[in-house]
Amino acid sequence: MNARVQVPKPYNESVLEYRPESLERKKIKARLAELKADKANIPLFIGSEEVRTGKYKDCRSPYDHGQVLGRYHEGGAAEVKKAIAAAMKAKQDWSRMPFHARAAIFLKAADLLAHDWRWTLNGATMLCQSKSVHQAEIDSAAELIDFLRYNVFFAEQIYSSQPNNSRGMWNMVEMRPLEGFVFAVTPFNFTAIAGNLPTAPAIMGNTVVWKPASSTVYTAYHLMRLFKAAGLPDGVINMVTGPASVVSQTLFESPDFGGVHFTGSTGVFHWMWQTVGANIAKYKTYPRLVGETGGKDFVMVHPSADATAVAVALVRGAFEFQGQKCSAASRSYIPDSLWPKVKKAMGDMLATVKMGSPEDFGNFFNAVIDKPAFDSISGYISRARQNKSCKIVAGGRSDDSKGYFIEPTVVLTTDPKSESMVEEIFGPVLTVYAYPEKKFKETLKLVDSSSAYALTGSIFSNDRKAILEAQEALTNAAGNFYINDKPTGAVVGQQPFGGARASGTNDKAGSYLNMLRWTSARTIKETFDPPRDYRYPFLEPETQSAEENESRRKHPSQAAV
Ligand code: NAD
Repeated sequence: MNARVQVPKPYNESVLEYRPESLERKKIKARLAELKADKANIPLFIGSEEVRTGKYKDCRSPYDHGQVLGRYHEGGAAEVKKAIAAAMKAKQDWSRMPFHARAAIFLKAADLLAHDWRWTLNGATMLCQSKSVHQAEIDSAAELIDFLRYNVFFAEQIYSSQPNNSRGMWNMVEMRPLEGFVFAVTPFNFTAIAGNLPTAPAIMGNTVVWKPASSTVYTAYHLMRLFKAAGLPDGVINMVTGPASVVSQTLFESPDFGGVHFTGSTGVFHWMWQTVGANIAKYKTYPRLVGETGGKDFVMVHPSADATAVAVALVRGAFEFQGQKCSAASRSYIPDSLWPKVKKAMGDMLATVKMGSPEDFGNFFNAVIDKPAFDSISGYISRARQNKSCKIVAGGRSDDSKGYFIEPTVVLTTDPKSESMVEEIFGPVLTVYAYPEKKFKETLKLVDSSSAYALTGSIFSNDRKAILEAQEALTNAAGNFYINDKPTGAVVGQQPFGGARASGTNDKAGSYLNMLRWTSARTIKETFDPPRDYRYPFLEPETQSAEENESRRKHPSQAAV
């Protein structure tokens, strides 16, 4: 096409409210009923094939483990090898497709999701991940639509950035996709992340083998259907299932492994890094390792803070989606003078919080993802109960008879290094250390040094000097730092997201920084009228003729390299 096209300017998708009697509420209820009635039979997607191995696993709702949503076929090493071959084959056409044509596919997916597919993806996320309708809306609709629209825009910015030119030449930087394929590995907790990790590299012309979390294959299946409906060619994203270690071992052994786009726990990413290191001589190129991992996110409170604002930030920040956001507030440092007020305000709020199925829209709080998560979180609570330095001041009970329910739990500790104050729990448990009011500076040091993670954190204060002091002291304690706000809820295009230390490579999902990782630049220099004489002007004899002077003007000295 002979036109210099520009992708549409991105904008953040509006979040629907689902008030009683609203159109969106009717639509989502209708789709929930349809999804529940239609038991999905989920294949692996490899090239143009839907592969059914006959080795089944059930997809169940966490809030009602008797409710089967469908079943998926499990793959193994043979299917993974097939997926690699399909990705490598599809790459030949995909990497050469003009950018505007690739971009249109993802913009179409965003628009489909903004309309009719919204009810399917939100419904699947409610049923499969036990998210309230609001939590599903801000994840599987709003955030994923934003990722798709903004990433296409960031890609264009990257392609547009070109070097300078001197007279007589044209310099270009071509942003090639990586050599080989990209492996995307996604966590259970965000449908938006499950959609983003395979599509971000694909937007940059890569092809992908994608392994979703086993607890959320159901939602991943609906994402694959959406991508296909938007016209994504076969083999660009290949979805495989199966035991995580078998799948990843097979992928990491391929010479064509070009990079991993991972979000999940720190331990798994450590293992991936080590495995890639051990295999490094096998690869055709140094692979890109992008991992957003765990967190132990803090809320630091100055004595000047508004106690009610702190309480709201803690209730929302620690307990929305049952504390299963990587950014969830899980440790808070509150001056002892302010703690009674914060505790009372939180207690009043938590007394009104209802826990149960997300299908009942009156419930703010739902179930945790599965039995291993339920056991692990309950373990932390029972150890806190036995720890002499800890006291459970809210919640603390759990029940997995119907679904995996754990009450929003607040632990008060006198030991800022107690287990639940430093380890990632990934559930609805907030630990509070009520620090001596005069020890603000010392407590900032504790915040910075108590945990290996550095993902998100907040300072609450009405004293600007204290805000600056916290911002400075906590420079490396969080990749996303909030002032008088909860540490969750980053919006694509507004707060690029990611952390360092044990929280990952900080490549900032939802920004051009992340998109850059899926490219390998090639610099091209063209000289229009190349020199025809190897000699430089300094070699000329002292006395020059007019002709020689003219030649010197036409061919100024050449760079050394
Ligand atoms: P997880 O690490 O258990 O699983 C993540 C993915 O890795 C899943 O697909 C899983 O099947 C796969 N996996 C597990 N073991 C593997 C192995 N040996 N080889 C290859 N893949 C393997 O994490 P999860 O429970 O799904 O998600 C919760 C974790 O994710 C928390 O630690 C949370 O902080 C983190 N998280 C981080 C961010 C962020 O942006 N930093 C966002 C969301 C979640």
